[in-house]
Amino acid sequence: MSIPHRLFGRTGLSVSRLGFGAMRLPSRIESGVEVLSPGQAVALVRQAWDAGINIYDTAAAYGSGQSEVVLGAALREVPRGQVVICTKLEANRCASREEFRYWFMASLARLGVERVDILFLHGLKLQSWEERILPRGLDREWAEWLAAGRVGSIGFSSHDTPDNVRNLLATGCFAAVILQYNLLDERYAGALAEAHARGMGTAVMGPMAGGLLAGEDSVWAEAVTASGVRDQRELALRYVLQQPFVDVALAGVTDFAMLHHCTVTAEKDTPLAAAARPLIARAQAAHHCRQSIYCTFCKYCLPCPHGVNVPLNLKVLMLAEQHQAGVVAQRMYERIGVDPLLPGKTAVFCTGCGQCARRCPQKLDTVDLLHRTRRLFGP
Ligand code: SF4
Ligand code: SF4
Repeated sequence: MSIPHRLFGRTGLSVSRLGFGAMRLPSRIESGVEVLSPGQAVALVRQAWDAGINIYDTAAAYGSGQSEVVLGAALREVPRGQVVICTKLEANRCASREEFRYWFMASLARLGVERVDILFLHGLKLQSWEERILPRGLDREWAEWLAAGRVGSIGFSSHDTPDNVRNLLATGCFAAVILQYNLLDERYAGALAEAHARGMGTAVMGPMAGGLLAGEDSVWAEAVTASGVRDQRELALRYVLQQPFVDVALAGVTDFAMLHHCTVTAEKDTPLAAAARPLIARAQAAHHCRQSIYCTFCKYCLPCPHGVNVPLNLKVLMLAEQHQAGVVAQRMYERIGVDPLLPGKTAVFCTGCGQCARRCPQKLDTVDLLHRTRRLFGP
Protein backbone atom coordinates (compact mmCIF):
# COMPACT_ATOMS: atom_id res chain seq x y z
CA MET A 1 0.00 0.00 0.00
CA SER A 2 1.11 3.56 -0.58
CA ILE A 3 -0.28 6.99 0.17
CA PRO A 4 -2.42 8.16 -2.76
CA HIS A 5 -1.37 11.26 -4.67
CA ARG A 6 -3.45 14.08 -6.07
CA LEU A 7 -2.87 17.01 -8.41
CA PHE A 8 -2.45 20.08 -6.19
CA GLY A 9 -4.68 22.39 -8.17
CA ARG A 10 -3.05 24.66 -10.72
CA THR A 11 0.34 24.39 -9.05
CA GLY A 12 0.59 21.35 -11.32
CA LEU A 13 2.31 19.37 -8.54
CA SER A 14 1.47 15.78 -7.70
CA VAL A 15 1.27 15.59 -3.90
CA SER A 16 0.68 12.86 -1.35
CA ARG A 17 -2.67 13.35 0.37
CA LEU A 18 -0.87 13.30 3.71
CA GLY A 19 1.54 16.18 4.12
CA PHE A 20 4.18 16.73 6.78
CA GLY A 21 3.52 19.84 8.86
CA ALA A 22 6.79 20.91 10.47
CA MET A 23 5.29 23.51 12.80
CA ARG A 24 6.45 21.78 15.94
CA LEU A 25 9.99 20.99 14.79
CA PRO A 26 12.87 21.04 15.58
CA SER A 27 12.28 19.76 19.12
CA ARG A 28 9.51 18.98 21.56
CA ILE A 29 9.20 18.72 25.31
CA GLU A 30 6.25 16.87 26.78
CA SER A 31 5.42 16.47 30.46
CA GLY A 32 8.89 17.65 31.32
CA VAL A 33 10.72 15.23 29.00
CA GLU A 34 12.37 15.96 25.66
CA VAL A 35 10.56 13.55 23.36
CA LEU A 36 12.03 14.93 20.14
CA SER A 37 15.51 16.36 19.61
CA PRO A 38 16.66 18.17 16.43
CA GLY A 39 18.60 15.03 15.42
CA GLN A 40 15.51 12.88 15.85
CA ALA A 41 13.48 15.46 13.94
CA VAL A 42 15.77 14.97 10.92
CA ALA A 43 15.28 11.20 11.20
CA LEU A 44 11.52 11.70 11.52
CA VAL A 45 11.35 13.71 8.28
CA ARG A 46 13.47 11.09 6.49
CA GLN A 47 11.13 8.38 7.70
CA ALA A 48 8.17 10.40 6.44
CA TRP A 49 9.80 10.50 3.01
CA ASP A 50 10.43 6.74 3.10
CA ALA A 51 6.79 6.23 4.08
CA GLY A 52 5.58 8.06 0.95
CA ILE A 53 4.98 11.66 2.07
CA ASN A 54 6.23 14.04 -0.62
CA ILE A 55 4.88 17.43 0.52
CA TYR A 56 6.49 19.28 3.44
CA ASP A 57 5.26 22.51 4.96
CA THR A 58 7.32 24.78 7.18
CA ALA A 59 7.62 28.52 7.87
CA ALA A 60 10.28 31.07 8.70
CA ALA A 61 8.49 31.61 12.00
CA TYR A 62 8.50 27.97 13.12
CA GLY A 63 11.14 27.35 15.74
CA SER A 64 12.66 30.77 14.89
CA GLY A 65 13.78 29.36 11.54
CA GLN A 66 15.09 26.07 12.92
CA SER A 67 12.17 24.13 11.48
CA GLU A 68 13.39 25.15 8.01
CA VAL A 69 16.95 24.11 8.92
CA VAL A 70 15.86 20.64 10.07
CA LEU A 71 13.59 20.12 7.09
CA GLY A 72 16.30 21.20 4.64
CA ALA A 73 18.88 18.92 6.25
CA ALA A 74 16.52 15.95 6.21
CA LEU A 75 15.52 16.36 2.55
CA ARG A 76 18.97 17.19 1.16
CA GLU A 77 19.55 13.71 -0.24
CA VAL A 78 16.08 13.45 -1.77
CA PRO A 79 15.92 14.13 -5.54
CA ARG A 80 14.73 17.74 -5.66
CA GLY A 81 12.20 17.13 -8.41
CA GLN A 82 10.38 14.51 -6.37
CA VAL A 83 9.76 16.46 -3.18
CA VAL A 84 7.44 19.44 -2.72
CA ILE A 85 8.95 21.97 -0.30
CA CYS A 86 6.69 24.75 0.97
CA THR A 87 7.53 27.54 3.35
CA LYS A 88 5.72 30.61 4.62
CA LEU A 89 6.67 34.23 5.17
CA GLU A 90 4.84 36.89 7.13
CA ALA A 91 4.71 39.33 4.25
CA ASN A 92 2.50 41.74 6.19
CA ARG A 93 5.47 42.45 8.49
CA CYS A 94 7.75 43.46 5.63
CA ALA A 95 7.97 47.21 5.18
CA SER A 96 9.44 47.04 1.65
CA ARG A 97 10.23 44.77 -1.26
CA GLU A 98 13.87 44.74 -0.14
CA GLU A 99 12.93 43.46 3.29
CA PHE A 100 10.63 40.83 1.81
CA ARG A 101 13.45 39.68 -0.48
CA TYR A 102 15.86 39.53 2.43
CA TRP A 103 13.57 37.20 4.38
CA PHE A 104 12.87 35.05 1.34
CA MET A 105 16.59 34.60 0.69
CA ALA A 106 17.10 33.77 4.38
CA SER A 107 14.47 31.03 4.12
CA LEU A 108 16.13 29.56 1.01
CA ALA A 109 19.48 29.61 2.82
CA ARG A 110 18.09 27.86 5.91
CA LEU A 111 16.41 25.24 3.75
CA GLY A 112 19.58 24.89 1.66
CA VAL A 113 17.65 25.05 -1.63
CA GLU A 114 17.71 27.23 -4.75
CA ARG A 115 13.92 27.37 -4.97
CA VAL A 116 10.76 26.45 -3.08
CA ASP A 117 7.82 24.82 -4.77
CA ILE A 118 5.19 26.94 -3.01
CA LEU A 119 5.67 30.09 -0.99
CA PHE A 120 2.69 30.79 1.26
CA LEU A 121 1.95 34.20 2.73
CA HIS A 122 1.71 33.27 6.39
CA GLY A 123 -1.49 34.12 8.28
CA LEU A 124 -2.74 36.49 5.58
CA LYS A 125 -5.55 38.90 6.44
CA LEU A 126 -7.65 40.79 3.92
CA GLN A 127 -6.79 44.05 5.65
CA SER A 128 -3.03 43.55 5.44
CA TRP A 129 -3.39 42.43 1.81
CA GLU A 130 -5.14 45.68 0.93
CA GLU A 131 -3.29 48.09 3.22
CA ARG A 132 0.27 46.75 3.26
CA ILE A 133 1.11 44.02 0.78
CA LEU A 134 -0.31 45.58 -2.39
CA PRO A 135 0.68 49.19 -1.60
CA ARG A 136 4.24 48.05 -0.85
CA GLY A 137 4.48 46.21 -4.16
CA LEU A 138 5.27 42.83 -2.61
CA ASP A 139 3.20 41.14 -5.33
CA ARG A 140 5.56 42.58 -7.95
CA GLU A 141 8.47 41.18 -5.97
CA TRP A 142 7.17 37.61 -5.98
CA ALA A 143 6.25 37.95 -9.67
CA GLU A 144 9.99 38.32 -10.27
CA TRP A 145 10.76 35.26 -8.14
CA LEU A 146 8.20 33.26 -10.11
CA ALA A 147 9.70 34.40 -13.40
CA ALA A 148 13.21 33.55 -12.19
CA GLY A 149 12.12 30.10 -11.02
CA ARG A 150 12.94 30.75 -7.37
CA VAL A 151 9.31 29.95 -6.49
CA GLY A 152 6.97 27.54 -8.25
CA SER A 153 3.66 28.99 -7.00
CA ILE A 154 2.27 31.47 -4.48
CA GLY A 155 -0.38 30.62 -1.89
CA PHE A 156 -1.56 31.83 1.48
CA SER A 157 -2.58 30.50 4.86
CA SER A 158 -5.13 32.38 6.93
CA HIS A 159 -7.15 32.56 10.12
CA ASP A 160 -9.14 35.57 8.91
CA THR A 161 -12.95 35.37 8.84
CA PRO A 162 -14.35 32.96 6.23
CA ASP A 163 -15.85 35.91 4.31
CA ASN A 164 -12.49 37.70 4.19
CA VAL A 165 -10.77 34.49 3.11
CA ARG A 166 -13.26 34.20 0.25
CA ASN A 167 -12.39 37.75 -0.80
CA LEU A 168 -8.71 36.80 -0.81
CA LEU A 169 -9.51 33.75 -2.95
CA ALA A 170 -11.43 35.99 -5.34
CA THR A 171 -8.33 38.09 -6.08
CA GLY A 172 -7.17 35.22 -8.30
CA CYS A 173 -3.58 35.90 -7.18
CA PHE A 174 -2.98 32.54 -5.52
CA ALA A 175 -2.53 28.96 -6.66
CA ALA A 176 -2.92 27.29 -3.26
CA VAL A 177 -4.34 27.84 0.20
CA ILE A 178 -3.92 26.38 3.70
CA LEU A 179 -6.88 26.65 6.08
CA GLN A 180 -7.87 24.99 9.31
CA TYR A 181 -10.34 22.12 9.05
CA ASN A 182 -11.19 19.15 11.25
CA LEU A 183 -14.05 17.30 12.91
CA LEU A 184 -14.34 20.03 15.54
CA ASP A 185 -13.96 23.04 13.28
CA GLU A 186 -15.64 23.27 9.88
CA ARG A 187 -15.78 27.07 9.65
CA TYR A 188 -13.68 27.09 6.49
CA ALA A 189 -15.44 24.24 4.66
CA GLY A 190 -17.16 26.72 2.30
CA ALA A 191 -13.92 28.62 1.62
CA LEU A 192 -12.05 25.38 0.94
CA ALA A 193 -14.78 24.23 -1.45
CA GLU A 194 -14.60 27.58 -3.24
CA ALA A 195 -10.80 27.39 -3.49
CA HIS A 196 -11.10 23.88 -4.90
CA ALA A 197 -13.71 25.06 -7.43
CA ARG A 198 -11.33 27.87 -8.47
CA GLY A 199 -8.68 25.29 -9.32
CA MET A 200 -6.44 26.03 -6.34
CA GLY A 201 -4.52 23.43 -4.36
CA THR A 202 -6.18 23.01 -0.95
CA ALA A 203 -4.31 21.92 2.16
CA VAL A 204 -5.73 21.81 5.67
CA MET A 205 -3.87 22.41 8.90
CA GLY A 206 -4.90 20.97 12.24
CA PRO A 207 -6.64 17.81 10.99
CA MET A 208 -6.52 16.54 14.57
CA ALA A 209 -7.36 19.91 16.12
CA GLY A 210 -3.89 20.47 17.54
CA GLY A 211 -3.96 17.08 19.32
CA LEU A 212 -7.42 17.44 20.85
CA LEU A 213 -8.67 14.63 18.62
CA ALA A 214 -5.61 12.45 19.17
CA GLY A 215 -6.65 10.91 22.46
CA GLU A 216 -9.50 8.70 23.62
CA ASP A 217 -12.72 10.52 24.41
CA SER A 218 -15.97 8.67 25.09
CA VAL A 219 -17.90 11.23 23.01
CA TRP A 220 -16.43 9.69 19.83
CA ALA A 221 -16.66 6.01 20.83
CA GLU A 222 -19.86 5.16 18.91
CA ALA A 223 -18.70 7.04 15.82
CA VAL A 224 -15.37 5.15 15.89
CA THR A 225 -17.13 1.77 16.08
CA ALA A 226 -19.67 2.61 13.37
CA SER A 227 -16.95 3.96 11.07
CA GLY A 228 -14.97 0.74 11.27
CA VAL A 229 -11.75 2.56 12.15
CA ARG A 230 -9.12 1.69 14.72
CA ASP A 231 -9.47 4.75 16.90
CA GLN A 232 -10.34 8.41 17.17
CA ARG A 233 -7.18 9.57 15.37
CA GLU A 234 -8.00 7.46 12.31
CA LEU A 235 -11.57 8.78 12.36
CA ALA A 236 -10.30 12.39 12.50
CA LEU A 237 -7.80 12.04 9.66
CA ARG A 238 -10.04 10.02 7.35
CA TYR A 239 -12.92 12.44 7.93
CA VAL A 240 -10.74 15.25 6.61
CA LEU A 241 -9.30 13.24 3.72
CA GLN A 242 -12.70 12.10 2.47
CA GLN A 243 -13.83 15.69 1.83
CA PRO A 244 -13.70 16.31 -1.93
CA PHE A 245 -12.40 19.86 -1.38
CA VAL A 246 -9.34 18.72 0.59
CA ASP A 247 -6.27 17.80 -1.44
CA VAL A 248 -3.80 17.44 1.44
CA ALA A 249 -4.05 17.04 5.20
CA LEU A 250 -0.98 18.57 6.84
CA ALA A 251 -0.41 16.58 10.01
CA GLY A 252 1.84 18.22 12.61
CA VAL A 253 3.92 15.08 13.12
CA THR A 254 6.13 15.02 16.20
CA ASP A 255 6.93 11.37 16.83
CA PHE A 256 7.53 8.11 15.00
CA ALA A 257 4.43 6.36 16.35
CA MET A 258 2.22 9.21 15.21
CA LEU A 259 3.91 9.25 11.80
CA HIS A 260 3.26 5.52 11.40
CA HIS A 261 -0.37 5.89 12.45
CA CYS A 262 -0.95 8.78 10.04
CA THR A 263 0.70 7.10 7.05
CA VAL A 264 -1.15 3.82 7.55
CA THR A 265 -4.40 5.78 7.83
CA ALA A 266 -3.72 7.90 4.73
CA GLU A 267 -3.07 4.76 2.69
CA LYS A 268 -6.75 3.82 3.11
CA ASP A 269 -8.28 5.69 0.23
CA THR A 270 -11.90 4.79 1.04
CA PRO A 271 -14.65 6.91 2.60
CA LEU A 272 -15.85 6.17 6.11
CA ALA A 273 -18.87 3.86 6.37
CA ALA A 274 -22.00 5.80 5.40
CA ALA A 275 -23.82 4.40 8.44
CA ALA A 276 -21.39 6.32 10.66
CA ARG A 277 -22.47 9.75 9.40
CA PRO A 278 -25.29 10.39 11.90
CA LEU A 279 -23.11 9.16 14.76
CA ILE A 280 -20.28 11.47 13.71
CA ALA A 281 -22.75 14.39 13.55
CA ARG A 282 -24.08 13.48 16.99
CA ALA A 283 -20.58 13.33 18.47
CA GLN A 284 -19.72 16.67 16.88
CA ALA A 285 -22.83 18.24 18.42
CA ALA A 286 -22.08 16.71 21.82
CA HIS A 287 -18.52 17.98 21.66
CA HIS A 288 -19.59 21.50 20.67
CA CYS A 289 -22.02 21.61 23.61
CA ARG A 290 -19.19 20.75 25.95
CA GLN A 291 -16.47 22.73 24.25
CA SER A 292 -15.80 26.22 25.40
CA ILE A 293 -12.06 26.54 24.71
CA TYR A 294 -10.34 25.75 21.46
CA CYS A 295 -6.65 26.46 21.91
CA THR A 296 -4.42 24.79 19.31
CA PHE A 297 -1.24 25.59 21.33
CA CYS A 298 0.20 27.50 18.36
CA LYS A 299 1.90 30.00 20.75
CA TYR A 300 1.13 33.00 18.52
CA CYS A 301 -0.14 34.74 21.68
CA LEU A 302 3.40 34.79 23.16
CA PRO A 303 5.38 36.53 24.43
CA CYS A 304 3.45 37.95 27.34
CA PRO A 305 5.10 41.09 28.81
CA HIS A 306 4.65 39.55 32.26
CA GLY A 307 5.96 36.11 31.37
CA VAL A 308 2.65 34.26 31.55
CA ASN A 309 2.78 31.00 29.59
CA VAL A 310 -0.67 31.43 28.06
CA PRO A 311 -0.93 28.13 26.13
CA LEU A 312 0.30 26.10 29.09
CA ASN A 313 -2.23 27.69 31.42
CA LEU A 314 -4.99 27.06 28.87
CA LYS A 315 -3.87 23.45 28.46
CA VAL A 316 -4.27 22.98 32.20
CA LEU A 317 -7.72 24.55 32.07
CA MET A 318 -8.77 22.38 29.14
CA LEU A 319 -7.51 19.23 30.86
CA ALA A 320 -9.64 20.06 33.87
CA GLU A 321 -12.78 21.30 32.15
CA GLN A 322 -12.95 19.28 28.96
CA HIS A 323 -10.99 16.09 29.49
CA GLN A 324 -11.95 15.08 33.01
CA ALA A 325 -8.33 15.27 34.15
CA GLY A 326 -8.56 17.68 37.09
CA VAL A 327 -5.94 16.00 39.28
CA VAL A 328 -3.32 15.94 36.52
CA ALA A 329 -4.19 19.54 35.69
CA GLN A 330 -3.78 20.71 39.29
CA ARG A 331 -0.36 19.03 39.57
CA MET A 332 0.76 20.52 36.29
CA TYR A 333 -0.41 24.00 37.27
CA GLU A 334 1.52 23.83 40.54
CA ARG A 335 4.73 22.98 38.63
CA ILE A 336 4.51 25.91 36.18
CA GLY A 337 7.56 28.09 36.73
CA VAL A 338 8.96 25.60 39.26
CA ASP A 339 9.77 22.74 36.95
CA PRO A 340 12.21 24.17 34.35
CA LEU A 341 10.48 22.06 31.77
CA LEU A 342 7.16 23.83 32.39
CA PRO A 343 8.48 27.35 31.83
CA GLY A 344 6.84 30.71 32.35
CA LYS A 345 4.38 31.96 34.89
CA THR A 346 0.91 30.98 35.98
CA ALA A 347 -2.27 32.92 35.27
CA VAL A 348 -1.83 34.69 38.62
CA PHE A 349 0.66 37.06 36.96
CA CYS A 350 -1.75 38.13 34.20
CA THR A 351 -2.58 41.84 34.39
CA GLY A 352 -5.33 41.57 31.79
CA CYS A 353 -3.57 43.82 29.24
CA GLY A 354 -5.12 41.84 26.36
CA GLN A 355 -2.01 41.63 24.12
CA CYS A 356 -2.25 37.84 23.91
CA ALA A 357 -5.96 37.95 22.99
CA ARG A 358 -5.24 40.32 20.11
CA ARG A 359 -2.65 37.90 18.70
CA CYS A 360 -4.75 34.73 19.02
CA PRO A 361 -5.87 33.44 15.59
CA GLN A 362 -8.66 31.46 17.28
CA LYS A 363 -10.01 34.71 18.73
CA LEU A 364 -10.01 33.24 22.22
CA ASP A 365 -10.83 35.57 25.08
CA THR A 366 -7.58 34.64 26.78
CA VAL A 367 -7.95 37.27 29.49
CA ASP A 368 -11.19 35.69 30.66
CA LEU A 369 -9.81 32.16 30.29
CA LEU A 370 -6.72 33.00 32.35
CA HIS A 371 -8.97 34.54 34.96
CA ARG A 372 -10.94 31.28 34.99
CA THR A 373 -7.71 29.28 35.33
CA ARG A 374 -6.65 31.37 38.33
CA ARG A 375 -10.04 30.94 40.00
CA LEU A 376 -9.95 27.17 39.48
CA PHE A 377 -6.39 26.47 40.59
CA GLY A 378 -5.49 29.39 42.81
CA PRO A 379 -3.77 30.73 44.74
S1 SF4 B 1 -4.35 31.09 23.07
FE1 SF4 B 1 -4.62 31.36 20.87
S2 SF4 B 1 -2.60 32.06 20.13
FE2 SF4 B 1 -2.29 31.22 22.18
S3 SF4 B 1 -1.67 29.11 21.84
FE3 SF4 B 1 -3.91 29.11 22.12
S4 SF4 B 1 -4.77 29.25 20.05
FE4 SF4 B 1 -2.60 29.84 19.91
S1 SF4 C 1 -3.50 39.54 29.07
FE1 SF4 C 1 -2.26 38.61 30.66
S2 SF4 C 1 -1.30 36.83 29.72
FE2 SF4 C 1 -2.08 38.12 28.07
S3 SF4 C 1 -0.30 39.36 27.47
FE3 SF4 C 1 -1.48 40.56 29.00
S4 SF4 C 1 -0.57 40.04 30.98
FE4 SF4 C 1 0.14 38.51 29.51
